[in-house]
Amino acid sequence: MNANLLQTPIDYLKGVGPNRAALLRTELGIHTYQDLINFFPNRYIDKTRFYKINELQQNTAEVQVVGKIINIRTVDQKRGSRMVAEFIDDTGKMELVWFRGQKWIRENIKINTPYVIFGKTNWFNGMFNMPHPEMELLEEHQKNLRTAMQPVYPSTEKLTKAGITNRVINKLMQQLFIETGGRFYDTLSEEIKEELKLISRAEAMFNIHFPKSQELLARAQFRLKFEELFYIQLQLLIKNMLHKQKIKGFVFEQVGENFGEFYQEHLPFQLTGAQKRVIKEIRSDLGSGAQMNRLLQGDVGSGKTIVALMSMLIALDNDFQACLMAPTEILSVQHYNGLMELCKDLKTSIYLLTGSSKTSKRREIHEKLENGEINILIGTHALLEDKVKFKNLGLAIIDEQHRFGVAQRSKLWQKNHLPPHILVMTATPIPRTLAMSLYGDLDVSVIDELPPGRQEIKTVHRYDSNRLKVFKFIRDEIQKGRQIYIVYPLIQESATMDYKDLMDGYESIAREFPMPEYQISIVHGQMKPADKEIEMQRFVKGETQIMVATTVIEVGVNVPNASVMIIESAERFGLSQLHQLRGRVGRGAEQSYCILMTSHKLSSDAKTRLETMVSTSDGFEIAEVDLKLRGPGDLMGTQQSGVLNLKIADIVRDNQILQSARFYAKQLLAEDPEMKMPKNKMIGYTFQQLGVHKNIWNYIS
Ligand code: ADP
Ligand code: MG
Repeated sequence: MNANLLQTPIDYLKGVGPNRAALLRTELGIHTYQDLINFFPNRYIDKTRFYKINELQQNTAEVQVVGKIINIRTVDQKRGSRMVAEFIDDTGKMELVWFRGQKWIRENIKINTPYVIFGKTNWFNGMFNMPHPEMELLEEHQKNLRTAMQPVYPSTEKLTKAGITNRVINKLMQQLFIETGGRFYDTLSEEIKEELKLISRAEAMFNIHFPKSQELLARAQFRLKFEELFYIQLQLLIKNMLHKQKIKGFVFEQVGENFGEFYQEHLPFQLTGAQKRVIKEIRSDLGSGAQMNRLLQGDVGSGKTIVALMSMLIALDNDFQACLMAPTEILSVQHYNGLMELCKDLKTSIYLLTGSSKTSKRREIHEKLENGEINILIGTHALLEDKVKFKNLGLAIIDEQHRFGVAQRSKLWQKNHLPPHILVMTATPIPRTLAMSLYGDLDVSVIDELPPGRQEIKTVHRYDSNRLKVFKFIRDEIQKGRQIYIVYPLIQESATMDYKDLMDGYESIAREFPMPEYQISIVHGQMKPADKEIEMQRFVKGETQIMVATTVIEVGVNVPNASVMIIESAERFGLSQLHQLRGRVGRGAEQSYCILMTSHKLSSDAKTRLETMVSTSDGFEIAEVDLKLRGPGDLMGTQQSGVLNLKIADIVRDNQILQSARFYAKQLLAEDPEMKMPKNKMIGYTFQQLGVHKNIWNYIS
C-alpha cells in the first residue's frame, strides 16, 4: 500500500476531529495513522461467552450479558446521587449503576430494548449490580465487525473522562482498516517468513486488533514480536559492525612467554569451564584487528580476576602494557596484592597508583610508565589523570564498571594512538536477555559457573522480634573466630535519617557486644575517606570482629574470614543490592550465613524479594526476578538505552523470540550487510524508514 497514506495525521481519520486528535497525541503519542496501527492492545477479553443473570457468581471477572432495562431511577446518596437501572433477562434481575454521566444515560438509553452489557459485577443488597457497564444495542452488536477476542487498549484517566473509551478506540481502528483497506506491506523477507511460518504483516495487524481466533491472535503476536525484536537486533548489530569497521585495534598475535608460563606453571587452581571459554573469547578478540569492547559478567566470586590477569599477560606478551582500574582504593589494593601474589614467579612489573600514592611514588610511576618499565598498572580513577602516560597501553580493564561513567571510560581510550582494547567487568548480574538488548553493541561474555567447592551461603529471613536470637548467633560465630557484617540501608534522599538509624543500631550493638571483649568497626558515607579506610583496614586485618556499615561496603571487598552478613531493614533494599551484599561473605572455607532482618510490615514485592533471596543464590535468576518486579526501566543503565520502549514484545518473557530474532538478524547481515539483495529489499527499506541509521552515527562519533 501507499506508505504515505500511513503518514496521514490522525486528525483526518473519520471520527477523530480536533479534540480527540489532540488527546490521542498527548495521551497516547498517536500522531499518524501509522501510530494508531502500532497501538496494540495490552490484553484481550474472551467475549465468546454470554452469561445468564442466574449464572453470575461473586467475584467473577468481566462478564457479558444480554437483556433489557425495564426502569431507571435516581437514588440520592450522601454525596450527589447515583442512577440505577433494573436489567432483566429470562433468568433473573440485576442492576446497572452510574455515578457519573447520568444525564447522558437518561437521554440516550432505550427502555425495553435488548442490549449487550459488559463489565464487572458486584454483589450488593442481595443482588448483582454492574457499575458503569459498557453497553451496546444487541442489533448494533450483531452488525459490527466483531471477533471472539475483544482487545483492550491501554488508556488513561483523561481519555476515559473525555469519552475516548476502549470502544471508541476500537471503532477508530475499524475505520482505519476501512480507509487503508488493511493492505500493509510486509517488512520481512519471504525467506524468514517461510522458515518461521510467520503470517503476513497485514494479517498480523488485522488479527492483533480484531483476532478471529485464539490461534490467529497467537500467530499475530508472534509475528509482530519477532518483527519488533528483529529490527532492534538489526540496529544493534549494525552499530557493532560499524564500530568494528571504524575502530581498528592492536593485533595481539602471540600468546607467549608470560601467558604460557603462567598457564603451565603458576595457575593456582584449575580454571572452570566458563573461565576457559571466556579467556578464549577474549583471545580471539585481541587477535582480530578490531578494538575489543567486551563486557564480562560474572557473579560475585565467579573468578573474574584471573581472567583479567591472563588477558593482561597476553598484552604483555605482545609488548604492550595493561592497566586495571577499580572504583575504590580498597579494591585496588586488594587487586594489587592479589596479582602480586599470582605473578610472584613471573618477570612482570606491577605497580599500584591511587589517590593516596605519595608524590615521589607518583613521579616514579609516571616515569616508569613512559619508559615501559611498568607492565601492569593497577589503581583507581587516578589512572585517568592526564599525567599518567603509557609507553604503549594495549589493554585496559575496568572492574565493577557500573561505578564508572562513560566519560571516564572514554578517557582510557585516549591513552594510546589507537584506543586500547577494553574489558569491563561487572558482578551486577544483568539478565542475559537484557544484556543482549542493552549491550548488543558490546560483546558480552558470561562466567556462569562458580569455582568448585564453594559452600552455599545459608540465607534466612528473621523478624526484628527475633533479634535476641540473632545476637546469640553472632556471639557464637565470633566465638568460633569469625567476623560479622551488619549493614544498614542508605537512601540518599534521607541521609540524616539513615545516619540516625545507623547510629542507633551501632549503639545497641556496642551495648550488646561491649569492649574490650568485642571490637567494632563503623563505616558510613559521612566519614572522611581516610577514616573510612582506617576502619576498613581494621576489619580486613581482623582487629575488629564486627563491621557496622551502610552500603558503602557493597563493592568488592574481600575478607574471607567474614562469614556472617546481617542486613537490617532488608525490606528497604532492592534485590540486586541484597545479592551484592550477600556476596561479601562465603569467600572463605567456612559455612557462611546471610540474615535478612525486617519488621512485620512487608509489601508483597518485599516478600517476593526476601523469598527469592532465601531460595536462590543464582545471580541471574535473581536478576530476572528483579527485572519482573521493577520492570527494565529501573535497572541500572537501562534508562539511557532507549531500546526498551517495546510496543509488543516483552524482553523477559519473549526471550526465545529475541534469540531467534538475533539469529536471523545476524544471518542477514552476514549474507547481505547492506540489505541490497532483492529478497531483502523490504527489510532494507523498513530499516531506513525507522530512521535508526541516524542514531547509529550519533553513537559512533
Ligand atoms: P570475582 O569474580 O568476584 O572478582 P574473584 O576473581 O575475586 O571473583 O575470585 C573469587 C575467589 O575465587 C578468589 O579467591 C579466587 O582465587 C578464587 N577462584 C577463582 N577462580 C577459581 C577456580 N577456577 N578454582 C578455584 N578458585 C577460584
Ligand atoms: Mg572482583
